[in-house]
Amino acid sequence: MPNRALLALARSDRARELALELPATRAVVRRFVPGEARADAVQVAAGLVAEGLRVTLDFLGEDTIERRHAHRVEAEYASLLGELARRGLARSAEVSVKLTALGLRLPGGEEIATAHARAICEAARTAGTTVTLDMEDHTVTSATLRVLRTLRAEFPETGGVLQAYLRRTPADCRMLAGPGSRIRLCKGAYDEPADVALRDRHEVDLAYVSCLRTLMAGEGHPMVATHDPRLVAIARHLAREQGRVTGDHEFQMLYGIRPGEQRRLAAAGETVRVYLPYGQEWWGYLTRRLAERPANLSFFVRSLLSS
Ligand code: FAD
Repeated sequence: MPNRALLALARSDRARELALELPATRAVVRRFVPGEARADAVQVAAGLVAEGLRVTLDFLGEDTIERRHAHRVEAEYASLLGELARRGLARSAEVSVKLTALGLRLPGGEEIATAHARAICEAARTAGTTVTLDMEDHTVTSATLRVLRTLRAEFPETGGVLQAYLRRTPADCRMLAGPGSRIRLCKGAYDEPADVALRDRHEVDLAYVSCLRTLMAGEGHPMVATHDPRLVAIARHLAREQGRVTGDHEFQMLYGIRPGEQRRLAAAGETVRVYLPYGQEWWGYLTRRLAERPANLSFFVRSLLSS
């Protein structure tokens, strides 16, 4: 499971300020977040698309505590989607959205976030692409799935995310494996208590496979989000077993992680989508990536020592 101490830093403003003072931080951030500006992200997306990959762009930010910030997030996604359409990228590039960035944790947040997310779905439809709602920590799982259901009534193409480590996920998977659904299955990136989430890596892997079986046997479009080579191999096997063909499921990986494997899978005929984050609010995202893998942390420390 991810390193708990590092995950705790994700919510620390002090740790963020300290890290920002270190020149090496920028180098590490760039490995996972190619740019802060929309133009940087769109440029990188265009390069990935030219290589035969698909993209989902995430404007970084979470846990908005001001309404006007949620408005700004919606406006950024609208501009981004317009830009993707203008550059002819909308067929291959969609967007990923965090509902807490759209105000989900504010009083009356579910309505606020739904309204902003609906506007983003409209902009995506106009651009000719889709939206996927990222999944955050367990305190917002039910609300996120409710918003997903509401949005899907109007925008059936809207995607959602399920986290294999949550004990509730097998039931959610069964509910969301129906026709038209687009579900990204990931292991889960947050520090969750044992009563709501499995905490043993092996158990999480087994749960992942079991959910994969449900989604692959279902009638939706499974989005297999993992860098784990064993799970990728199992997913490919299950897809074949279910008679699935290229285009009715996809693999997803994060920008900067196993880029060679992303290209290898695409060359083997799989649909591969790269999750591409951008923006200034990269602290929470970065700490989750460091927490997932001790080697990333030593890369960070080595960069610090050599700076
Ligand atoms: P792991 O067992 O963590 O890793 C398997 C192997 O992959 C490692 O041995 C290593 O080789 C490589 N690897 C994994 N992580 C890293 C890393 N950080 N740096 C370098 N190498 C690495 N989580 C959520 O909770 N909500 C979401 O909405 C969400 N969306 C995601 C979208 C995408 C496209 C992906 C790929 C992941 C997403 N995640 C999300 C994160 C996910 O839950 C995991 O935390 C993350 O993917 C690590 O798990 P893993 O399946 O890659 O397996």
